[in-house]
Amino acid sequence: MQLLKVALENELDLTLAYKKSIKAAELIGLSRSTQTAFATAVSEVCREVIDKTHDGLVTLEIHNEGERHHLAAVITYRQSESINNLEEGFQYARKLVPIFLYAVSERKGTIQLKMGIPKAVGISKTKILMVSSYFEHLEPSTPYEEVRQRNQQLYLINEQSEQALQQAEYLNQQKNEFLSVASHELKTPLTILRAYTQMALKTDCSPITLSHLKKVDDQASKLQTMITQLLDISKIEDTETEYNLEATSSKQYLLDMRDLIMQLVPAHQLLIHLNDDSTLYIDRLRVEQVIMNIIGNAAKYSPAGTQIVFTTTLQANGEVLFSVKDQGIGMSEEELIKIFKKFYRVESIIKQYNGLGIGLFISSKIINNHGGKIWVESIFGHGCTFFFTLPVYKD
Ligand code: ADP
Repeated sequence: MQLLKVALENELDLTLAYKKSIKAAELIGLSRSTQTAFATAVSEVCREVIDKTHDGLVTLEIHNEGERHHLAAVITYRQSESINNLEEGFQYARKLVPIFLYAVSERKGTIQLKMGIPKAVGISKTKILMVSSYFEHLEPSTPYEEVRQRNQQLYLINEQSEQALQQAEYLNQQKNEFLSVASHELKTPLTILRAYTQMALKTDCSPITLSHLKKVDDQASKLQTMITQLLDISKIEDTETEYNLEATSSKQYLLDMRDLIMQLVPAHQLLIHLNDDSTLYIDRLRVEQVIMNIIGNAAKYSPAGTQIVFTTTLQANGEVLFSVKDQGIGMSEEELIKIFKKFYRVESIIKQYNGLGIGLFISSKIINNHGGKIWVESIFGHGCTFFFTLPVYKD
């Protein structure tokens, strides 16, 4: 049965091996002179191992051979030409303990030093457990030992967290795969549903049927946005997203988008100030997705009739600053820092407003991938201003 282990790398380990051997022999009940002889033999062998290999391990064990018990030190090391059976320390240790066993294989050397435990001393499982638990719970006796113990603990923690990380990455991959497959499957029937609803909307039907069909189309459109977001999230996380970058005149691009934006916020007063006319190098659809998401949110989280101001400005640092200011519910400081996280939604609004908490996560990825930044400023209860920047294209 094993009592303790000491790695053998430098002189300080030698002191540790010596002290622990003495203590183990003492706890087992060996006489003072036997304790010293055993510990000296251990330290002589360890000295040679450290000097010649810098890479060994001593394990103290209780061996049970027939009727007899022994306190044993098993010292293993990396075998090399620099160490052999005739080392001075080995010779000295041979004289100190009754049993000295030496064995080498191609890669490993093993030395066993054994000291008999007299019957009168008595050895039992409980005693062995008591000795090993003493070393397990032993407070570090030197700063070096403390550092070594901490290192061992850190190594263990590191190993555990690496395993947890691997597991989390695997689960994340599985989740993305599921999202990707599920949203693909949902997309087709929904597109067909919308196509038929829109055809039906153009037919000659009663005002009440028309109003019902519009509601169906509205809800189907919301569902389509959510499914597209789900599909996007798996793509963006897998860094599969390909950007079709094109040199784009910012003003014209936004003027072309104007009608689309108007449709998105029919119940609000939308003011658009396009103060910039530089060229951007962007994926037009992806940046449109960001703008629609932010303006859509501004409308979603503010009362009908209030103002939404969309502004673009060219900054001195060569970036175009886009901002969207609303007069809505706003956010607390605590929430501001979390809203670009995946699936994050402000707790208090979940029941009131529908959504998945994905739009801003995707928007931030798109803007970052274009070399820009995105952030928000807000005073709780007094609206939000979302900002993002895009670098101006240099030919
Ligand atoms: P969703 O709107 O689908 O929940 P988003 O990722 O677009 O997801 O937004 C994340 C969260 O940020 C929202 O759930 C909401 O709590 C908050 N939020 C976004 N825009 C605004 C805004 N203009 N005003 C107040 N809160 C907002």
